Amino acid sequence: APKKRPEHVVLLASPGAGHVLPVAELARRIVEHGGFTATIVTYTNFSSAEHSSTLSSLPPSVSTAVLPEVAIDDLPADARIETRIFTVVRRALPYLRDLLRSLLGSPAGVAVFVADLLGPRALAVAAELGIPRYVFFTSNLMCLSSLLYIPDLDRTTTCEFRDLPEPVVLPGCVPLHGSELVDPLQDRANPVYPLMIDLGLDYLRSDGFLVNTFDAMEHETLVAFKELSDKGVYPPVYAVGPFVRSCSGEVANDACIRWLDDQPDGSVLYVCLGSGGTLSAAQTAELAAGLEASGQRFLWVVRFPSDKDNSASYFGTCDHGDADDPLSYLPEGFLERTKHTGLAVPMWAAQVEILNHRAVGGFVSHCGWNSTLEAVAAGVPMLAWPLYAEQRMNAAMLSSRVGIALRPSNTREEDGVVTREEVAAVARELISGEKGAAARRKARELREAAAKATQAPGGPSCEALQPVVAGAWKKAAAARGHADQE
Ligand code: UDP
Repeated sequence: APKKRPEHVVLLASPGAGHVLPVAELARRIVEHGGFTATIVTYTNFSSAEHSSTLSSLPPSVSTAVLPEVAIDDLPADARIETRIFTVVRRALPYLRDLLRSLLGSPAGVAVFVADLLGPRALAVAAELGIPRYVFFTSNLMCLSSLLYIPDLDRTTTCEFRDLPEPVVLPGCVPLHGSELVDPLQDRANPVYPLMIDLGLDYLRSDGFLVNTFDAMEHETLVAFKELSDKGVYPPVYAVGPFVRSCSGEVANDACIRWLDDQPDGSVLYVCLGSGGTLSAAQTAELAAGLEASGQRFLWVVRFPSDKDNSASYFGTCDHGDADDPLSYLPEGFLERTKHTGLAVPMWAAQVEILNHRAVGGFVSHCGWNSTLEAVAAGVPMLAWPLYAEQRMNAAMLSSRVGIALRPSNTREEDGVVTREEVAAVARELISGEKGAAARRKARELREAAAKATQAPGGPSCEALQPVVAGAWKKAAAARGHADQE
C-alpha cells in the first residue's frame, strides 16, 4: 500500500510569550489552509500563563510539545535577554533532536520544520535529519536583511556601529544610521554580540523565510531581496503577513472603550509604548506637559518610569520603590487639569480594540512590529517614538518611506528628551495638521492593502504559504529517496 504523505509541520517557538503567540498564529493558519497537522515545540524556560492559554485554545490538529528545562544559572546576572534565549535554544538542542527523531519515526512524520526568528540554531538539527526547514521571521524584511548583513559588516568594520561614518545601505531599504541597527548589536564587547553574528549565519541554513510583512508595506525591499534569492545569495522569502490579532469583542464594558465612545471621531491620540516601552522620569514629565499643552484629546497607557532602561517594563525591572500606581509619577495636578480631554490608564489597555475605535485619530507608538501592523490594519497614523529592539529602524522606514508616521524632530541636547513644545507641536500636527492628514491617507491605503493581503482564501498571505507547504512535501520525499505521493 502507498505510504501516507507526511503532512505534519513542526514549529519551534523560542522562549517567551512574544515568540509563542505569533508561532501559534502561524500554526493555526497552516493547518486551516493546507490541511496539515502541526506540532508547536516550546521551552520550559520563560514559559508563562499567557502563552499556555493561547496554546490550549488552538484547533485540535495542532499539538504541543515542551522541551525540558535547561539550566542557565551560570549566566551573569546582567546577561541580556537575547543571550538567555540563545543559550536556552542551544542547550536544549539534544532534546529537540530526540523529539524530531521520534516524530520522524511516527506515522505523522515531519514534512517541514519551522524555527522562529531567535531559533535558527535549531535548523542544523533539522538539516542533519534531512527535514526541509524554514525561518518564521515575526518582524519585517528590512530587519531580517540587516541581520543577514551583519556578519559582513562585522568583518569589514571595527568601530561600534553607532560610530559608522556612512549610513548602512541594505538592498531595497531606506539607508540606516548604524545606531538604528538592533540593540544587541550596539556593543561589540557584550557576550550577545557574537551570538548575533551566529544568528545571521544560521539564517542561511534555511530553505526559505516566512516574513510577517506584505507587499504594499515593503515593496522595494521584497523586490531587492527576491533578486538576491534568485542569484542564490539568500534563501527565498515569502511575505505571509500581516498577522494581526483581531478584536476580541469582550471589551464593551472596558473603561477606555466607554470613554472613547464619548469622544468625537478621529480626535483622540492613543499613547502606548508596547509591552516593554519605558520612559525616563524626565521624559514622562515632558510628555505629560506636552500632551496637556497640545490641547488634544488623549488616551495614555502609563508605565512606571525608569532612568536606566527603556525596555524596563518588559522585565518588570522599573525602580518604583513602594509605589504601586504608575499614575502617581505624573506631574502634580496633571490628571485633574486634563480630566476633560484625557484619560490615563495604568500599565495595559486593549490596544487592538482601541486602535479600531472610530474616536482614535493617531497613535504615539514605540513602533514595535506588532503595534505597527495593528495600526496599519486599523488605518491609524503614527507618531514614532522608538525605544529598543529593532524599533529605530522601523521608525525610519515608517516615516521616511512608508509615510504613515511623523517623528518628533527636536530633542534636548543634554539628555535627549523630547521637549513639551515638540510633543505639543507634533501631537497637533498628527491629529489636525496637513502632514498628519497625509499620513492618515497613507495609513488608510495600507489598511486596504493589508486586508487584501490576508483575505482568505487566495490572498497573497495564504498564497505565500503554498510553496512552503507544497515544496515541503517534494523535498521530504526527495530527501528520503523515494516518491510515495499517491
Ligand atoms: N499591547 C496591548 N496593550 C498594551 C500594550 C501592548 O494590547 O497596553 C499589545 C499590542 O497590541 C501588541 C503587543 O502588545 O500586540 C506589543 O507588541 P509589539 O511588537 O508592538 O511590541 P513589544 O511589546 O514586543 O516591544
